[in-house]
Amino acid sequence: MTKRIHVRVKKRPLRIDIATLFPDMCETVLNESIVGRARRAGKIELWCHQIRDYSTGKHRRVDDTPYGGGMGMVMQAEPIYRCFTEVTKDFVRKPHVIYMSPKGTVLTQQKAVELSKMHNLFIICGHYEGVDQRVINKIVDEEISIGDYVLTGGELPALVLTDAVARMCGGVLSSEECFTEESHFSGLLEYPHYTRPEIWEGERVPDVLLTGHHKNIAEFRHNEAVKITKERRPDLYKLFTENTNMNDK
Ligand code: SAM
Repeated sequence: MTKRIHVRVKKRPLRIDIATLFPDMCETVLNESIVGRARRAGKIELWCHQIRDYSTGKHRRVDDTPYGGGMGMVMQAEPIYRCFTEVTKDFVRKPHVIYMSPKGTVLTQQKAVELSKMHNLFIICGHYEGVDQRVINKIVDEEISIGDYVLTGGELPALVLTDAVARMCGGVLSSEECFTEESHFSGLLEYPHYTRPEIWEGERVPDVLLTGHHKNIAEFRHNEAVKITKERRPDLYKLFTENTNMNDK
């Protein structure tokens, strides 16, 4: 009898390069907690690059006044472009380039899942009034916003995106269940959690959670998730019910 051999092809971990004026700020966050552990274990490859190192000027300048006048400074195209071309010169293919921007498409869980399946992401963090439009036109594939508000720089948005993407990469969380049950993955917000003690400040843990009856517990949690979504996010609830009806047909 022929013996079947299972060859497991090891997929190269996702690599994310972050171009920033504050690499130390990014490194500090990316070396901590779950993402830091995943990074050390080789489940994800993360690099932070100082854009200033790619400035050719004597004073390592990266910004200038805006053409047409107006407030603030604009990040120049050339240092960002040089950073991108130098970092990616040995890459087999062009990475997916993202510019963090309040003008971008707002980040969703679905987008994080989509990006986690790519090989290379290159994230640009803006500062001041933003970056020269010409470098966006030349290398950026998409602009992503983390919400309808304006921050002082793209570092926090880049870290938010990196965290959301990293936890979707294989082996970063202990099991898939860690995220498939969570808010936004299935279109619902998550059910509430409880841990010891059984009674705290006079409030008991819902009885069903103490029964060990898996089916009833799953049903209780699902109903709670539906209830919370309906109360807090009618927009998500509407989508969820539409999709459920569609799948039932
Ligand atoms: N003048 C820009 C505007 O009105 O759209 C805002 C520039 S903001 C002060 C500086 C940088 O912070 C941006 O270039 C971007 O990289 C980042 N940033 C600020 N808010 C953001 C958000 N909500 N999502 C993603 N990036 C953001």
